[in-house]
Amino acid sequence: MTTIQQSPALSEQAQNFWSREVHHLFIDGQMVPAQSGKTLTTTNPSTGEPLARFASGGQADVDHAVLAARKAFNGPWSSWNPYERQALLMRIADVLDHRFEELIQIEAMDMGAPVSRLRNTKASLMKMLAFFASQATSISGETLMNGIPGNVTTMTLKAPVGVIGGIIPWNGPLNSQFWIIGAVLASGCTAVLKPASEASMSVLRVAEILHEAGVPAGVINVVTGSGREAGNALAAHHDVDRIAFTGSTETGRRIIEASTVNIKKLQLELGGKSADIICADADLAKAVPGAAMGVFANSGQICFAGTRVLVQRPIVEEFTDRLLAFMKTLRVGHSLDSAAALGPVISQPQLDTVLSYIDIGRNEGAELLCGGKRMGNELRNGYFMEPSVFGGVTNEMRIAREEIFGPVLSILPFDDVDEAIAIANDSEYGLGGAVWSQNLSTALRVVQGVHTGTMWVNCYGYIDPLVGFSGTKLSGYGSKGTAAHMDTYLYTKSVYLQL
Ligand code: NAP
Ligand code: MG
Repeated sequence: MTTIQQSPALSEQAQNFWSREVHHLFIDGQMVPAQSGKTLTTTNPSTGEPLARFASGGQADVDHAVLAARKAFNGPWSSWNPYERQALLMRIADVLDHRFEELIQIEAMDMGAPVSRLRNTKASLMKMLAFFASQATSISGETLMNGIPGNVTTMTLKAPVGVIGGIIPWNGPLNSQFWIIGAVLASGCTAVLKPASEASMSVLRVAEILHEAGVPAGVINVVTGSGREAGNALAAHHDVDRIAFTGSTETGRRIIEASTVNIKKLQLELGGKSADIICADADLAKAVPGAAMGVFANSGQICFAGTRVLVQRPIVEEFTDRLLAFMKTLRVGHSLDSAAALGPVISQPQLDTVLSYIDIGRNEGAELLCGGKRMGNELRNGYFMEPSVFGGVTNEMRIAREEIFGPVLSILPFDDVDEAIAIANDSEYGLGGAVWSQNLSTALRVVQGVHTGTMWVNCYGYIDPLVGFSGTKLSGYGSKGTAAHMDTYLYTKSVYLQL
């Protein structure tokens, strides 16, 4: 069930991985089949062909994995000191550094991101692991004054909360799983991960590699399967203490509902419809490629994609001309083609959804300036779509309000900065956003005015765990990065000590 013969560039390790009959769950340090014996199939979005079968986990498997995670949480792992957990994270960084090519080939074939893009994510993965390694030795409580009569010493202690349920989307699991794994290992928690059905493979492979690198059995478990069964079982589980979820706002709502059974605290990173504001005084040599890749990177499948490009009226024409020229340089191709900048979208349903927005935009009166079609010729069997640009978009149109999660950019003209801020804020989401201006006062006014979790100035999409990023409004809550991220994995105990 593989297409590896068509991909001579595939490493021996990746070939061995794909040659497995079925990819099992990873529980308590071992690969185990789903108790129901059921499997699902993952597809290669570059070819439309089935790639591998994997276990379809359900309630019984989630119970098994949570039990393993609880046992590990209460076992010898609980006595690892901060330096030992830090050393483990540093060792993992070293191992992944050496295994990265194998992992990106698995990821590229499973979810379609081109290897050129994935190779560039190595530095950010290494930074993430260094960050969490540093957090392992930075957990601290406080000594507090008090007004209690007598000799009472008061302080707070921080302790790991227990078992984390991590629910991961398909748009970049190789890296995004480490927001959870890093914090779990740094804090002393344990986890059960539920990757997305459309891209589970890099999460399964990483779990095995982590175990080989010294992560004790039961600390990181993976239950693949559908969101409706395995995902819901995890979110509703009585013995899971926290849920870290990244995905759509709709699923976020279901997870909030499921979490009420035991009042789980949640870390929710949800959808977005971010505004990228191009002022008339922007340096267009930088703003044009910056805004374009703020949308088209990962074929538009990035939560903080700046899909509403707000352009000040005097430069709309020049910006558009330059953007359309830039579009011609974007090479779309098979994910294992090193020259491809953009790959396919994840699946046929996702392609159908994105293409439907092309019709929606046209019917609403927006002007399609380029793209808009499924790609043909040698790419015809994959889920490839031409990167597309709409001009003359207004913020009332559905293409400006709804998350498309595909390679579609909308240009919305504005007159002055106050109007741009108002348009940016007229959205139910609040995840990312940017402003391009050579005037720092203008830029700062926009930064202060836009109601969103992250703003970039004269750049787009940088994420550093030391700085963090987070959402507001329907984009969710809970930080990724900074000490606030670690707080999701810890609880605070107030201590009154009568001497
Ligand atoms: P999704 O449909 O919400 O799925 C995300 C994960 O939730 C998958 O593992 C999915 O499993 C699981 N799931 C589905 N239904 C569930 C349920 N009832 N209970 C528990 N888990 C359930 O999102 P997606 O389509 O994979 O990803 C795209 C969305 O994620 C976009 O809206 C995007 O903006 C958002 N996203 C946000 C960020 C961020 O950091 N803010 C990052 C990336 C993506 P199945 O795959 O088996 O359905
Ligand atoms: Mg796949």
